Amino acid sequence: MLKANHRAWVEVDVGAIAHNVQQILGTLAAGTQLLAVVKADAYGHGAVAVSRTAVAAGARWLGVATVGEGIELRQGGLTVPILVMGALRQREEMAAAIAHGLHPTVCDRDQAVLLNEEAANRGAYLPVHLKIDTGMGRLGLPWPEAVATATEIAGLPHLAIEGIYTHFANADEPDPAPTLVQQQRFTEICQALAAVGIRPQWQHQSNTAAMLDRRFCRGNLVRVGLGLYGYAPAPHQQGILDLRPALQVWARITQLKEVPAGVGLSYGWRFVTDRPTRVATVAIGYADGVPRALSNRIVASWQGQTLPQIGTITMDQSLWDVTAAPAIAVGDAMAVLGPHGDAAQWAGLTGTIPWEILCGFKHRLPRLPVGMPTATSGLTVPKPSV
Ligand SMILES: *Cc1c(COP(=O)(O)O)cnc(C)c1O
Repeated sequence: MLKANHRAWVEVDVGAIAHNVQQILGTLAAGTQLLAVVKADAYGHGAVAVSRTAVAAGARWLGVATVGEGIELRQGGLTVPILVMGALRQREEMAAAIAHGLHPTVCDRDQAVLLNEEAANRGAYLPVHLKIDTGMGRLGLPWPEAVATATEIAGLPHLAIEGIYTHFANADEPDPAPTLVQQQRFTEICQALAAVGIRPQWQHQSNTAAMLDRRFCRGNLVRVGLGLYGYAPAPHQQGILDLRPALQVWARITQLKEVPAGVGLSYGWRFVTDRPTRVATVAIGYADGVPRALSNRIVASWQGQTLPQIGTITMDQSLWDVTAAPAIAVGDAMAVLGPHGDAAQWAGLTGTIPWEILCGFKHRLPRLPVGMPTATSGLTVPKPSV
């Protein structure tokens, strides 16, 4: 794909992803493996390219939300185990998961029974991960009854419980108490199951926030998403690892004009020029992932210069004050999200979280991998085997 073909695009620095994976692996206890969370098209970064990079850099597992996302990875040639973290409910998706060698999450007894039937129909012995709800309240066997239900599920002949996991609700909060409560519940459940002979090979509980905190990082697998993409979940966790943001957003100038002082621009005239102003129209808007709530609040960079956004951001286009860059021309690209600002800053300005800002770019913009690790860097792309 050539940049020249695009009005706007996302650049994904896969070298930064590889670097972040190495940072994460370096902080894990011996014997603990990394499951790279690449759901939602790798948080807008492009699932196949990110997965290849993460696996080449040492991730042993991949995690997705849906069967479709897992199939996309298999079709992209990824052969490592893939955990589907969302709940499978339809027989069709269960059959597809089995056919593509995906590892489903089991979150209740009825679903386990159906999965067992589908596995039996295909003569398969299906590896699954049991999800325990220890306090998130979202998915999993409710913790008070988890031991009884898990014991029943373990009796289903076509399911192999290869993993058991839980998910924290508060691991990115400065107060550790709620997370320690969840951790205690999970530990007790694992111990009670071990006492009746149910000892899944993989135990996991840590997302990025818990991975970064020694009090919470337990088990032999960690499920890391945000950290792969170069962000710490919370301000108090910044700087624990040297994480590098991997995503930049670029867009091209489609029109330039000189506007006198006192002119209102864009919807609602929420920006009025206070001097003669050179205005660039740029082909990126909120449908591409630049939140409208950032109107009049961000800067782009062009050849090292920062240029402020002005007026209401519209669906496909936005206006920028380029008075300070007299050499800028129609067709030039500027970094809208890039070296000068990041998704955490945008999240702070709009009252959301960096996850949501990153996912916002997955819908319309093409993603162009840059900084591809070379053969000499010791990173190789796995060969397709199926
Ligand atoms: C999305 C997700 C993760 C990854 O969370 P990050 O905070 O991005 O690291 C881990 N586990 C589960 C179950 C998830 O849904």
